[in-house]
Amino acid sequence: MTRTTAIPFLDLVTVHEELREELVSVFGAALETGAFVGGPMVEEFERDFAKYCGTQHCVGVGSGTDALRFALVAAGIEQGDIVITVPNTFIATTETISQAGARPAFVDVDARTYNMDPEKLRQYLESECTIDDRGRPIDRATGSRVTAVVPVHLYGQMCDMDAILEVAELFNLAVIEDACQAHGAEYFSAKENRWRTAGSMGRAAAFSFYPGKNLGACGEAGAITTNDGDLARRARMLRDHGQARKYYHDTEGYNGRLDAIQAGILRVKLRHLTKWNAGRRRAAARYRDLFAEAQASEFPPFEPDWAKSIYHLFVIRVPYRDVLIRQLADANIGTGIHYPVPLHLQKAYECLGHEAGDYPVAESLAPEILSLPMFPQLEYAQQVRVVKTIQEFAAEITPAEHSFKYAGGAV
Ligand SMILES: *Cc1c(COP(=O)(O)O)cnc(C)c1O
Repeated sequence: MTRTTAIPFLDLVTVHEELREELVSVFGAALETGAFVGGPMVEEFERDFAKYCGTQHCVGVGSGTDALRFALVAAGIEQGDIVITVPNTFIATTETISQAGARPAFVDVDARTYNMDPEKLRQYLESECTIDDRGRPIDRATGSRVTAVVPVHLYGQMCDMDAILEVAELFNLAVIEDACQAHGAEYFSAKENRWRTAGSMGRAAAFSFYPGKNLGACGEAGAITTNDGDLARRARMLRDHGQARKYYHDTEGYNGRLDAIQAGILRVKLRHLTKWNAGRRRAAARYRDLFAEAQASEFPPFEPDWAKSIYHLFVIRVPYRDVLIRQLADANIGTGIHYPVPLHLQKAYECLGHEAGDYPVAESLAPEILSLPMFPQLEYAQQVRVVKTIQEFAAEITPAEHSFKYAGGAV
């Protein structure tokens, strides 16, 4: 391999080439039956995905964003409620809280896992809320009811769900997992003494099948998983204009159905997901070994012993991130930043009145995180080149430059 060969951040071509015939036959089947929206392909995928996640129900919808929005509404979130999540996530997490009529409130993340810190969740509820006579927390500053929490299993690693579920139960909060990056991730519940799969632990969970996700459609798609039959029924109505049967509308809803061709494609790809996730875990272990061998100062992701991450992303932490990106780009190595600006500092959320310093952990991560190439087919030789390029660059930069870049890179 020459130095100029491109190492993509994500390869969406090889994986579909390998399955080409099977995927094309899904399209053929749809043409033959004319079932393009709903129908058996959607139902079969829903059945398979519920089984994969270990839940009783799966409701296929148009996107991960639809899944979050419908799950929140179906869980009973009402106009004016407060829903808690974290600032370092994709904006769909908070957009859908607003679209469900609620207001997003943030708690900071754990400095090692980058996921919701259950202690900070508890602190917010204990010190910034009063409890009404029905045991429900009321945010003191706004007088609004706090009704749900959305833990985000970021980068493919589950949040500390035992702790989050315990706090949620204490304060009567619905837990809606944002599992859009975590298809097949596992969590060891000490409380239940068994491994649990992402999307099976809250009241409901939202999955995205955007093409770049670990399980991706060839277009837009998403799903809700839940063990709550009533919630699943409400979600089914919401995705289909609020109708319980054709043209009888119990509520207003949305056009948020899962496309049948995408469902058929997802069903084919789901059969490979366990193998692909294992490939990502292998690639992550190799990155870890390579960084350790190089005695690198870059922080690879932290995986607690209670988590099996499926490495949707492999995110390192480096103080000189922005210069390193250019260096890697020059060496034809693709990277990404997930995400450059924490949500509470986004222009879209000026209305929430936050300022720099409100969520120091999330803010300290934003200028330093760097997502390296990661996909199941990533090869060892490619990873060697990625780590070597980073090391060559790190060797050139002096400690003084580190701290200069560090200060200059702050949000
Ligand atoms: C991708 C993603 C979503 C939204 O999914 P779409 O299918 O793009 O609507 C929501 N939350 C997180 C954390 C995501 O990564």
